[in-house]
Amino acid sequence: MDNNRYDRYESHRPRKRVSRKTLRNRRLAALFIIAFLVLLFIILIAKGCSKSDKKGKSSKVTSATTITTQATTTDPAITTTATTTTVADPVNKSDFKLDKTSVYIEVGEQDTPMVQAYPEGTYEADERWSTGDPSIASVDNYGHIKGISPGVCYVTLRSAADPKQEVMIKVTVRGEGTDTSTPQSNKAEAPEPPVYDTEGLTYIEGVLIANKSYSLPATFAPGLETICYSQFQALSGAAAKEGLSIYLQSGYRSYHDQEIIYDNYVKEDGKEAADTYSARPGYSEHQTGLCIDVNTIDDAFGYTPEAAWLAEHAHEYGFIIRYPQGKESYTGYKYEPWHIRYVGSKMATKLHKSGQCLEEYLNIKSEYKSE
Ligand SMILES: [Zn+2]
Repeated sequence: MDNNRYDRYESHRPRKRVSRKTLRNRRLAALFIIAFLVLLFIILIAKGCSKSDKKGKSSKVTSATTITTQATTTDPAITTTATTTTVADPVNKSDFKLDKTSVYIEVGEQDTPMVQAYPEGTYEADERWSTGDPSIASVDNYGHIKGISPGVCYVTLRSAADPKQEVMIKVTVRGEGTDTSTPQSNKAEAPEPPVYDTEGLTYIEGVLIANKSYSLPATFAPGLETICYSQFQALSGAAAKEGLSIYLQSGYRSYHDQEIIYDNYVKEDGKEAADTYSARPGYSEHQTGLCIDVNTIDDAFGYTPEAAWLAEHAHEYGFIIRYPQGKESYTGYKYEPWHIRYVGSKMATKLHKSGQCLEEYLNIKSEYKSE
C-alpha cells in the first residue's frame, strides 16, 4: 500500500498546500507524542508491578524500570525489548540452584559454588551454609568452602525463609598420599562410634542417646562422624551392587539448624503436630553426627526395594532403622524408614535380631518433660 499516493498524484480531494519543512516538523512532533505515550504506558505498568510484588523483589523491578526509561527517551524501538525484562520475574518461592553439587579441593584450597537464588532479591543474608564435618571442610556465610583435612563431607545450603529448601554439595578434600576415592568396607565389623567426654551427654551401653528424654547441649557440634559416613558409603556401595540406589539426603544438623527447622514447623503445623515428626533443638539425633536420612523423606520411601534392603542389611554396616514401624510409643516418633542411626555392628545386630527398637532394648523413655 502506498500511503503517499495523494502527495504524488493529483487527488480528487481539495488539499491544502503544505511545505516540506512543516511536514517534517509535524512528523517529528507526532513521533515525540508517540514516544511520550509509550513511556507513560511503561511507567504505569512498572508501578503496578512493584506494588503487587512482595518485599525484596521491588528493588529489582525499580532498577529495571530505570533502564527502560532511559531507553525510551532515546529510541522508542528499544523499549519493546526492555519491557520484556521487567515482566519476566521468576515466580518460584525461595529456591536455590547451584552450578555444581560436588567440589574437589586440596587441603588449604578454597572453592565457592555459584548460587542462583529465587526469587530474585534473595541474597547472601537469606542463605544458611553449614558443613557436615568442620574437621574436613569449613564453609562461611558466603559459601566459601575450604579444605581442612583429607576426607569427604557434605556442605548444606538452606534457605533462611524456608529451611526445608536445601541443597547438598559433596566435598572431597584431597591431601598428600591419601586416597579418598575408595571407602573401606567394614561389613560385619563396624566399630563402635566415638565416645565424647562432654558434659550433658548421655551414654547407655556405649550408645549416645538423643531422644525426647535425653537432650544434647547446644555446644555439642561434632559434625557428621567419619565412621558414620564411611560405613554409609560401604552400605551404599553394597546396595549399588544389587542395583539399588541409597544416597545421603541429610546428615549432620547443628543445634542452630534444628532450631530453624523446628520453629518453622511449629509456625506451619502448631507445636503438638510438629513434636510428632520434628525434634526440638537439642533433642534431634541429627546433632549426634551419627545418623543419616537417606533418599526421600517421605512415607512412600517405605515401599521401595531400597527401604526393604535397608531393613534387612543396615545392621551389617552398623546401622539401625531408628524409628521402626509400630514402635512410636517407645521412640516417640512416627515410622521413619529413611532415618538410619549408626551404633556399630555389635549393637545393631543385637537390635536387629531382637526386633526391638533402641528405647525398648535399653529400657529408657522418650518423652518431653511437661512444661
Ligand atoms: Zn532423620
